[in-house]
Amino acid sequence: MRLILLGPPGAGKGTQAQRLVAKHGIVQLSTGDMLRAAVAAGTPVGLRAKAIMDRGDLVPDEVVVAIIADRIGQPDAKRGFVLDGFPRTVPQAEALDRLLKQRGLALDGVIALKVDEGILLKRIETRVAEMTARGEKVRADDNPEALKKRLDAYRAQTAPLVDYYTATGQLKTIDGMAPIDAVTAAIDSLLKPAGRSRSRGKPAATRAGRARTAKAKTARGRAARRGVKKSRGKAARPAAGRGRKAAKSAQVSRKKAGRRAAKRSRAGTRSGARKTRAKRLTRGR
Ligand code: ADP
Repeated sequence: MRLILLGPPGAGKGTQAQRLVAKHGIVQLSTGDMLRAAVAAGTPVGLRAKAIMDRGDLVPDEVVVAIIADRIGQPDAKRGFVLDGFPRTVPQAEALDRLLKQRGLALDGVIALKVDEGILLKRIETRVAEMTARGEKVRADDNPEALKKRLDAYRAQTAPLVDYYTATGQLKTIDGMAPIDAVTAAIDSLLKPAGRSRSRGKPAATRAGRARTAKAKTARGRAARRGVKKSRGKAARPAAGRGRKAAKSAQVSRKKAGRRAAKRSRAGTRSGARKTRAKRLTRGR
């Protein structure tokens, strides 16, 4: 499963991403966390990003795209990932499309958490208070000035992604103002129909399933054409062999049915005789 969580700072992307990780066994790829780790480790990327992040501005696209390109190729991301904080600009979204295409991968959905801006400052104040109470280091950009910048950056550069993914038909919007569990449940229900066909509610054929069926059909077909006998199971038996057996049993049932019909007509129930007479009369015979 490959998902994107979209939403302004404080929308709850991180919280929901962690729940998706626990539920689906995928990895959370948060560019914010990765950049903070790079800053803490003092890597060249970290050194470049630190001042930009502290102000609340966006790190250059090529920096985050390179991080993501590397990260989605790692073994733990094979089962899938939830992107949190990426893409954040249209060029990043375009770069992601190219990256996925090159690797033959596709997104399962883009989930936008919709929240009132008025509540975001409050949420971040609460986060700061909780982190302080736990004795954790508060993020350098969790202050009113940087937060204002982050919100401006969201409005100007990230919000256009709503249109971008609406145009691709991948956007699903969730009410991010609902309680955390309700948001999780809403995301779950959005993801469930992914495996079902919309028209009849039957399980949709998965790509792997379709491949298996096609393989089985062609294997059976080939075996039948060659007249090969296989010892394993009915499905593997050559069609020609099954045909002979089926024809014989059909012949037996036809004979039985014939004998039963003859017996009935010999016995000739009264109502049967009456019906036959009536038929003859209507036909004028
Ligand atoms: P937020 O709580 O604002 O969503 P994040 O933890 O996702 O914060 O990101 C923190 C900071 O890291 C951003 O303000 C920005 O400077 C930088 N950053 C994270 N992801 C990206 C990205 N995809 N593109 C550019 N900058 C990013």
